[in-house]
Parts: sequence; C-alpha cells; structure tokens
Amino acid sequence: MYEAICQQCGNPKKMVPAGISKRTGQSYAAFSVCETCNPKQQQAKAARQENDQGELILAGIDTINQRLDKMAKYLEERLA
Ligand SMILES: [Zn+2]
Repeated sequence: MYEAICQQCGNPKKMVPAGISKRTGQSYAAFSVCETCNPKQQQAKAARQENDQGELILAGIDTINQRLDKMAKYLEERLA
C-alpha cells in the first residue's frame, strides 16, 4: 500500500501500519518510509524513535524494581 511520493528520489513511500513492538510490547503509530532512501536499519531506527516514550517508562519501571529488590534484601537482613 502506497500513500506518498518520496521528495528525495520520487519513488512511492511505503506505509507501515500501526502495531505493537515485539521488543518493547508498546504500541506505535503508523508511519510512511521510502525503501529506496531508507534501508532496513534506518526503518528500524525510525520505529524505535516512535517508541522512545515507552522505553522511558520501561526504564523507570526497572529503576523501581531495583529499589524494591534492595528494600527486600534490607528487610530480610533485619528480620532474620
Ligand atoms: Zn526516496
């Protein structure tokens, strides 16, 4: 499915439908990409940028989990 013409090379751009990232489990919005100008790696990078906000949330959860682990260890030592 093609929607727009690439302004760099004049070829039609490919629409990437909205979906859910297998890597993060976060949903992302649909976007268009020129396969001529943008090799697969750059497409993946664009998709990752869409998910930056989700990554930040996941990083925050990691930090909270680490704090809970420390707290649990502290309590185990005190209550042993
Ligand atoms: Zn192009």
